[in-house]
Amino acid sequence: MATRPAGPLVVVGSGLAGLTCALSATTDCLLITAGSLTEAAASMWAQGGIAAAIGSGDSVDLHAEDTWRAGAYAGDRDAIRAITAAAPSVVAHLENLAVPFDRQADGTLDLALEGGHSRHRIAHAGDRSGAAITTAVAAAVRDASHITVLEDHTVTRLLIDAGGRINGIRMRDDSGRELELACERVVLATGGMGGLWPHTTNPRTALGQGVALAARAGARTQDLHLVQFHPTGLDVPRDPMPLLTEALRGAGARLLSDGRRFVDELQPRDVVAAAVWEQLTLERVVHLDARHVPDVAQRFPAVQHLVGESGFDLTQDLLPVRPALHYSMGGVTVDADCRTSVRGLWAVGEVARTGLHGANRLASNSLLEAVVTGQAAAVSSSTTIEDWSTAQVSTPAEARDRHDVTRNVALPSGPALGLGQIRSLVGASCGVLRNGRDLRDCVDALEPHIAADDAAYVAWLVARSALAHPHSIGAHRRTDDTTAQGVPA
Ligand SMILES: Cc1cc2nc3c(=O)[nH]c(=O)nc-3n(C[C@H](O)[C@H](O)[C@H](O)COP(=O)(O)OP(=O)(O)OC[C@H]3O[C@@H](n4cnc5c(N)ncnc54)[C@H](O)[C@@H]3O)c2cc1C
Repeated sequence: MATRPAGPLVVVGSGLAGLTCALSATTDCLLITAGSLTEAAASMWAQGGIAAAIGSGDSVDLHAEDTWRAGAYAGDRDAIRAITAAAPSVVAHLENLAVPFDRQADGTLDLALEGGHSRHRIAHAGDRSGAAITTAVAAAVRDASHITVLEDHTVTRLLIDAGGRINGIRMRDDSGRELELACERVVLATGGMGGLWPHTTNPRTALGQGVALAARAGARTQDLHLVQFHPTGLDVPRDPMPLLTEALRGAGARLLSDGRRFVDELQPRDVVAAAVWEQLTLERVVHLDARHVPDVAQRFPAVQHLVGESGFDLTQDLLPVRPALHYSMGGVTVDADCRTSVRGLWAVGEVARTGLHGANRLASNSLLEAVVTGQAAAVSSSTTIEDWSTAQVSTPAEARDRHDVTRNVALPSGPALGLGQIRSLVGASCGVLRNGRDLRDCVDALEPHIAADDAAYVAWLVARSALAHPHSIGAHRRTDDTTAQGVPA
C-alpha cells in the first residue's frame, strides 16, 4: 500500500539542482545549505548557458547524439534521451520564472554554439547565465510557502537505521554546534568536487561532500575517476582559476601555442584539454586569442571583468591558459528517479551519476541536468518509499565500483590531512594524464586518513576508481594504457 513518507523532505545544497528540487516538491521541504542561499554554488558561476534543441534545424535526436558522442559512447542512452528530451520544456520553465535570456531582434532566443554541439543550442543570459538562472529560481524558492530555508548549516553525516534506510542527518552550524534532525527523506544536491584539485574553476568549498555523505552511508558511487578538465582556465595565480568560457571559442577565439594554432578549438573538451596539456608539457606557452572576436568585450562582459582583475583585456591581450578541473561526470549512482541505492536517499545535479555525461560532459548540459534531476527527485520523493527498488542502479559497471569497504572493513584512523596536501596528491596523480604508479602512490598516501577526513576520503575514492580503470576513455587518459586506441593524444 502506498503511504506518504513522514516529516519534511530535506534537500541538502542550494545550487540550481537543490533549488529546483525544493521548488518542485509537493510536500513540506527543508532546504539546508552551507552558506547563504546562492553563495558557494557553482550554479551561480556558469557563464555559457543551458543546452536545449529549440533552434531551427535542431532536434532532440541531434542533441542526444552529440551528448552520446562527446561522452565517448559511454553514457546511458535512456538517461541521455530523457534529459535531452526534457530540455525545451526546461528552458520554457525558466522563461516562466523570468530568466532574462538573450533574444534576437525577432524575439526568439539567441542560441550560442559551443564545442561538441552540432547546432547553435545554448540559451544564455549574456555570459552570466548561471547567476541569471539561479537567482530567478532562488527568488521563487524564497516566495514558496512550503519551503523552509536553513542557511549556514553544513550536513556532516547521514543517519541510517538498522534496516539501512535514512532516518536522520547530522549537521553543524556556522558557530560549530552539532545538531541532529530526524527525517526519512534526504535529497543530496551538494555539487561537485573540483576543490580537491590544485587547479580548478570550482568554488574552493566544492570538495565532494555529497559523495562522502552518501558513500559513508553505504550508497553506491560510480565513475568517480571521470572528471572533466576545462581547457581554458586563465593561468594566473588565483584560486579558483578564472574561467574563459567555451562560448569564446564558439564565437571564434583561437588557441595558440607559441603563437601557432595546434587544435580544432571546437572539439569536445577532453580532446582540447589534452592538446593544451601536451603543449604545456613541451614547455610551450598556450594562449587564448579573442582579440579578433567582434564586440568581444560587449558580448562577454563578465569575462572581460574577470580577466581585467588580473590585468588583461580581451580586446588587446593574449590570455595565458591551462586546463583546470571543472566538472565531475561520476558521482552517487542514481536511477531515472534519482534514487540512490540507500532507501530514502536521492541525489541530484552534479553530485549524481545519472549516465548523461558518459566519459566526458558535453558543454552546457549540466545546468540542464540540474533542473531535470531536481524535478525528478521532487516527484519521486513525494510518493511512497516502500517500493524502493535498486534494480536499475545495479549495473555490472556499478558493481565494479562499489566501495563497500567504507562500511564493512575496519578503517585506519590517521589524522585529517590539510587541503593543500590532498590537492598536491590529487594533482600529481589524477590530472589530465594519469598512470598506475602515481595513482597507487596517491591511494596509499591517502588511505590512513580516510576515516577522519571527508576530503581525503573522496580523493581516495577518486584515485582508487582511476586505478581500477586501466584503459583510457573520454576524459580518463592513462599513459600506461597499452591498447592501441587507448594511447592518449
Ligand atoms: C565556472 C563554472 C562555469 C560553468 N559553466 C557552465 C555552463 O555554462 N553551463 C552548464 O551547464 N554548466 C556549467 N558549469 C557547471 C554547472 O555550473 C554545475 O555543474 C551545476 O551548477 C551544479 O549544480 P548543483 O546544484 O548540482 O551544485 P552547486 O551549484 O555547486 O550547488 C551545491 C550546493 O551545495 C551546498 N553544499 C555542499 N555541501 C554541503 C553540505 N555538506 N551541507 C550543506 N550544503 C552543502 C553548497 O553550498 C551549494 O549551495 C560551470 C561550472 C563552473 C564552476
